[in-house]
Amino acid sequence: MDFRLSSEQKQLRREVREFLADDPAISARPFPEDGWISGWDRGFSRRLGQKGWIGLTWPTRYGGMERSYLDRLIVTEELLRAGAPVAAHWFGDRQIGPALLAYGSNEQKHELLPRIARGELSFCVGMSEPNAGSDLAALATQARVHEDGFSIRGQKTWTSFAPLADYCYLVARTDPDSDRHQGISELLVPMGTPGISVRPIRDMVGESHFGDVFFDDVRVPRSALIGKLNRGFYQIMQQLDYERSGIERLLSNYPLWRDAKRLARERGLTRDPAFRDRLTRVEIAWHAGRGMIYRVAALLSAGQIPNHEAAVAKTFCTSLEQHIAELAAEILGPAAQLMPGDEQAPLDGRAARNLLYAPAYTIQGGTNNILRNIIATRGLGLPD
Ligand SMILES: Cc1cc2nc3c(=O)[nH]c(=O)nc-3n(C[C@H](O)[C@H](O)[C@H](O)COP(=O)(O)OP(=O)(O)OC[C@H]3O[C@@H](n4cnc5c(N)ncnc54)[C@H](O)[C@@H]3O)c2cc1C
Repeated sequence: MDFRLSSEQKQLRREVREFLADDPAISARPFPEDGWISGWDRGFSRRLGQKGWIGLTWPTRYGGMERSYLDRLIVTEELLRAGAPVAAHWFGDRQIGPALLAYGSNEQKHELLPRIARGELSFCVGMSEPNAGSDLAALATQARVHEDGFSIRGQKTWTSFAPLADYCYLVARTDPDSDRHQGISELLVPMGTPGISVRPIRDMVGESHFGDVFFDDVRVPRSALIGKLNRGFYQIMQQLDYERSGIERLLSNYPLWRDAKRLARERGLTRDPAFRDRLTRVEIAWHAGRGMIYRVAALLSAGQIPNHEAAVAKTFCTSLEQHIAELAAEILGPAAQLMPGDEQAPLDGRAARNLLYAPAYTIQGGTNNILRNIIATRGLGLPD
């Protein structure tokens, strides 16, 4: 296998770096971590869309560039390394677009994909419920089927971007009488539809990027259905592989790690062989994790759907991100606990913020326990 990037790919990386060096949104962010979760900037998404870097792998007739998944990985890697505010288009680019390409109607593809690629549309993902998280098939939100559409009742929770998104990609039960995994469908619901209310949830950092979403007799037409009625659960499985396998699972706190390593050198910590050994181990693990994510992109580029490979990459990389949050705090010393806004806080309190946010890395998008089950059964062939 040839691991070298082509000259076009190297050129693409240079272009993205040059674009980011000039873009005002990068320096405007108060902290560069978690750009795909807390960096909401529709203007930036539109500028990226103008460059053609959203929906990069999609057919040109839907606004894409028909480039490879490796090319997409190069773009997303540069964006997150720089701390770019990519949240407003992240879900659309990463999973809703691919889900529509795989299962959407012609009308949905023609109407929505070009707008996603232009950076104009934002989505939230309504899967989890108060009593259905890891076990998605336990979901209770109902979408009753009528001749002309659906009426939805229920509650979603932890819905990232719910207070801001244009559409909710909703997973709901359309046949209450069938087996748990059947009778589930995917719907696209405009967030402005009457009957939807959002209650923001404050996380430990004090931010409210997610929330509870309540559906009280929300009416949507038949055209809101993605793919086949009652086959949603099986359609979603592929989407989850896209959701889990990206470089955001490694680079969420990369800017903090880069700055903490610089401080470790400046403060002479790297002269201590024991500490240098620890840093080196993390650095090696970081490059191994990056290799896993490049492998997943290579599989996608070869037309394969990575499943346990995505689970391995996410489990390994998100655990490492948590370790990095702790090590960065250790490098900064006791003052690392000072929050943003405190004048004494090193790196503007980013280490404290990251320590508080880091537990989410191994939960969002499926917990590491669940992913280990996937690795065991589908990767290693162990019994269920
Ligand atoms: C920051 C953040 C953003 C999120 N954004 C979204 C979003 O946009 N949309 C959305 O739909 N959801 C979102 N979620 C929800 C997330 O997907 C769920 O929290 C996650 O799937 C776990 O579900 P749960 O919280 O209900 O925990 P539970 O499923 O109740 O699990 C509790 C614990 O039990 C363990 N466990 C459960 N079942 C098993 C099993 N079979 N084997 C071994 N261990 C098991 C889990 O690993 C976990 O440790 C987000 C969560 C976070 C933290």
